[in-house]
Amino acid sequence: MSRSTDPRISVIGTGYLGATHAVCMAELGFDVTGVDIDAGRIRRLSAGEVPFYEPGLEALLRKNLEAGRLTFTGSLAEAVERADVHFVCVGTPQQPDSGAADLRHVEAAVSGLITAGLGPGDLVVGKSTVPAGTATRLAAKLAAGVPGAELAWNPEFLREGFAVDDTLRPDRLVFGVAPEGTAERRLRAVYAQMIGDGVPVVVTDHTTAELVKVAANAFLATKISFINAMAEVCEATGGDVVELASALAHDARIGRRFLQAGIGFGGGCLPKDIRAFQARADELGVGRALTFLGEVDAVNIRARARAVALAREALGGSPANRTVGVLGAAFKPNSDDIRDSPALEVAEALRRAGAHVSVYDPAAAENARACHPNLCFADSVVGAVAGAEVVLVLTEWHEFRELDPAVLRPHVARPIVIDGRGALDPQRWRTAGWTYRALGRPRR
Ligand code: NAD
Repeated sequence: MSRSTDPRISVIGTGYLGATHAVCMAELGFDVTGVDIDAGRIRRLSAGEVPFYEPGLEALLRKNLEAGRLTFTGSLAEAVERADVHFVCVGTPQQPDSGAADLRHVEAAVSGLITAGLGPGDLVVGKSTVPAGTATRLAAKLAAGVPGAELAWNPEFLREGFAVDDTLRPDRLVFGVAPEGTAERRLRAVYAQMIGDGVPVVVTDHTTAELVKVAANAFLATKISFINAMAEVCEATGGDVVELASALAHDARIGRRFLQAGIGFGGGCLPKDIRAFQARADELGVGRALTFLGEVDAVNIRARARAVALAREALGGSPANRTVGVLGAAFKPNSDDIRDSPALEVAEALRRAGAHVSVYDPAAAENARACHPNLCFADSVVGAVAGAEVVLVLTEWHEFRELDPAVLRPHVARPIVIDGRGALDPQRWRTAGWTYRALGRPRR
């Protein structure tokens, strides 16, 4: 139950991050106002409908709407009226003509809060991923517009598909604050329950907080591209990247996670964040420190092309007029997010090469159809693979891991499967009569 002394919260931007944050803050008992410029999104959220696929989120949305703790509006003035802690969760996409981040939505949100009547004592908390230096600049803008208002940066690390759990039980909380302000105390009040449950808090300056987020994404992207680079070497030498990765993983300093070779990372974060990080380092004159991220990006893009090449090889050279089944469209499982999806890029490349491509995804088909009108979409695995001369598994949905290759076998024209995510058990598929191929693994 919220008390009158509790922070009253607004969340500006109700996409994957903001809608989850708003719902989870209400779940913690706060009064929350979600704001978005997208009227359709506000209408759907107000009606208890999550406008994207995120397990567990819709039930919590409905529960908190019914409890009267959660409202959605298109009006920043309403948010300013109702709340005193304002989380900025708007998008920071890649600029169309460079790798740099496009900060116009963040700038608009902060300017909008100022003109909507933010008062002294109000706290603006950035959660969007931004280049180092953004918070310091915005803090100065806020101080000039509303003396007595404060700005903090509290980057978000949630993973789509696990967003609710990651928000309510994060690995850590990072507070980037000005030393003399009240932001740390107020953020501790917002997150008191999690902190009481033992979630570690790192309190630092604005710039370090911004850097923690982009450095974390840079590290994760590097780990994925490292194993995909090893997959390339395995292909040239006859080694097996899965056995290599499993041997590496015994070393606790390396670990097991993010060492799955495949078609690489995508989505609305990792690719654009490593590019924006490099662009910002260039601006700061330290571009050389991050040149390796250019290689990380290049290895990642090559992984998609290598999957296309493997499909071509499986089809005997040319995909023209051949039938291809693709399982997966989302950039990762448990999500309908298709931003920079490796799966769709591979599917599109095969289509452009003349193949008849049929795609199935349990959640992302609608989004994918809207952006890729030339691909065909099936409404089941069997529909997608019917008559296929090669089947590609490109998103590691649980449903695909669990497929029975013997049941699928009679539906395809030629039983060849390309496992783009290391999601399948090769032995099982081979025993059922399939040719199993994967990036970085020898033909057996
Ligand atoms: P998104 O595109 O799903 O959502 C952004 C939302 O902001 C949209 O609904 C848009 O209409 C709204 N918006 C834009 N300008 C606005 C304004 N001036 N006022 C109000 N609303 C406005 O993006 P997302 O995936 O939620 O990402 C948001 C930010 O969070 C990005 O910086 C991203 O890098 C970061 N982030 C995302 C994730 C993730 O998994 N999606 C995880 C951590 C961090």
